[in-house]
Amino acid sequence: MAKKQFKAESKKLLDLMINSIYTNKEIFLRELISNASDAIDKLYYRSLTDDKIKVNKDDFKIRVDIDKDDRKIIITDNGCGMTRDELENNLGTIAKSDSLLFKEENKSDDIDIIGQFGVGFYSAFMVAKKIKVESKSIDSDSAYVWKSEGADGYTIKEGKKKEVGTTITLKLKDDTEDCNYSDFLDTFKVKGIVKKYSDYIRYPIVMNIEHSELKEGSKDEYETVVKEETVNSMIPIWKKNKNEVTEEEYNSFYSDKFFDYDKPLKTIHTKVEGNCSYNALLYIPSHLPFDFYTKEFEKGLALYSNGVLIMDKCADLIPDHFSFVKGLVDTEDLSLNISREILQQNVKVKQIAKSIEKKIKRELENMLKNDREAYDNFFKTFGMQLKFGIYADFGVNKDELKDLIMFYSSTEKKLVTLDEYVSRMKEGQECIYYACGESNDKVDNMPQVELIKDKGYEILYLTEYVDEFALQTLTTYNAKKFVNVSNDDVDLDTDEEREELEKVNKESKDMFESMLKTLENNNISDIKFTHRLKNHPVCLTTEGQISSSMEKVLNALPNDQKVNARMVMEINENHPIAQKLQTLYKENSEELEKYTKILYAEARLIEGLPIDNPTEVSNLICDIISK
Ligand code: ADP
Repeated sequence: MAKKQFKAESKKLLDLMINSIYTNKEIFLRELISNASDAIDKLYYRSLTDDKIKVNKDDFKIRVDIDKDDRKIIITDNGCGMTRDELENNLGTIAKSDSLLFKEENKSDDIDIIGQFGVGFYSAFMVAKKIKVESKSIDSDSAYVWKSEGADGYTIKEGKKKEVGTTITLKLKDDTEDCNYSDFLDTFKVKGIVKKYSDYIRYPIVMNIEHSELKEGSKDEYETVVKEETVNSMIPIWKKNKNEVTEEEYNSFYSDKFFDYDKPLKTIHTKVEGNCSYNALLYIPSHLPFDFYTKEFEKGLALYSNGVLIMDKCADLIPDHFSFVKGLVDTEDLSLNISREILQQNVKVKQIAKSIEKKIKRELENMLKNDREAYDNFFKTFGMQLKFGIYADFGVNKDELKDLIMFYSSTEKKLVTLDEYVSRMKEGQECIYYACGESNDKVDNMPQVELIKDKGYEILYLTEYVDEFALQTLTTYNAKKFVNVSNDDVDLDTDEEREELEKVNKESKDMFESMLKTLENNNISDIKFTHRLKNHPVCLTTEGQISSSMEKVLNALPNDQKVNARMVMEINENHPIAQKLQTLYKENSEELEKYTKILYAEARLIEGLPIDNPTEVSNLICDIISK
């Protein structure tokens, strides 16, 4: 029979895998047992929703057998089995090309990819030179046998298996210097591996274990008897009491279930009784899931009804601003055969979701208060999501989230909360200052920032695109307004200074009008002298709600309507350029035009905005410096 080839990408990935992507070869057993358990889950679930399928829950089991002489490990389950097509589709394709691409781009992340792309089954090729899968599906009258010797390909033919379920036989590789594959023929070693990785599996995992027993009727003669033994404890980890579970167990459950081999940043295990009872085991990952900001990312918690999985990712259980949380919820208050649509409307699900949201918030608040370093790490990873949560849905969640967000502070040189900022505000300080830019360094060098810092005010640095939208949604914190240092109404003057400035501006009105004329095609709504700058000659500020950084973000969105921030060019009244302009206005209007254009170009460059006419501007500069 001709061998079928694995899909091209699968073949490459399989090669990678066989050549030890996993350094930890023993996990093949965990992968196969998890698949077996999933298959039983599926069959059980079907039986509850389909009267024609009759099963006895107590009969479900997973067997692990060892054939030492033939160097084989055999894993058998009485789950849903696979049809011929399923064998072909599930075991003939390993991963989509996307995943392979990802693998190639991220060479160091070897381990994660296996689980993330559901290629668990193939991990068996790390220890096996041949694999045989005999399966009979609940939906098929015939059984089929899938066989493969690795990357070469596979065959499928009809088989003789009578009972519904799957038997996977691994013919172990020969021992090498690097690996003693025979270890996997040692009952006690294998039992240890099962216990280590698969203890929480809810179906019995049975093995034949040798025991030494007294011979019947004898007082001192022993014989070896083989007894079937259930190896795993079966109680789902989330149903145990917190004090019965070690950190290691929580972590290994996490990596098993969510395919993340880094320790979670935070584990939340909670049991709620009352109106709506549930157990939840939630994890905050320590790093960003690789697909978090792609449309492939699906938020959600696994939903169990009394220990049986209803849905892998129930999105309604977790709000978007906590979408990074992984985990599961088990409740007795939902019936099993509930459909996805009904689930969405379900009051119980909504109650659980609300309660989970509160719990996560409380945990984050505690972390912020008691373990700042961990919170800093958390915030650097997922803070954007919280800030987005403030802005999203017209700010319905803003009050819930405002105490969890942080920004880099000009004075503290680290992330600070809004509460910390307000508690440090100087006497008489009316507002919370912030400045926007691409990075802390860039913000630090903004002309608008210099004087405010000099006067001893703290400034929050907003460096992510969502930041200013979040603060604008909040509008105030503890009744203190947020003020962009680039907004034209920032006023740090004393009454006297203000009066003096107003006077000079009034006197220079005609000059500004003529300068505005020069810039008439440039979206500048005003030009004026300012006291907001210390050493810098010029800056751009904006009038009204839309700042120049918001303009950048909004115009980068796929949207035909472009917005324009109302820009004001402000010139430092205490800089020699102010005097120079006034002289030129009186004596040389042609030069004033050139100076105006150059100043405007400078101001745009400082703001990080493009200039329309770089050639003209550089010629003008050359003109002036070569005089
Ligand atoms: P994953 O389990 O992560 O989806 P695998 O490569 O381990 O990826 O398995 C691929 C698919 O093959 C599974 O999703 C499942 O549909 C099917 N499968 C594997 N093992 C079994 C089994 N013992 N019984 C029924 N189906 C199975």
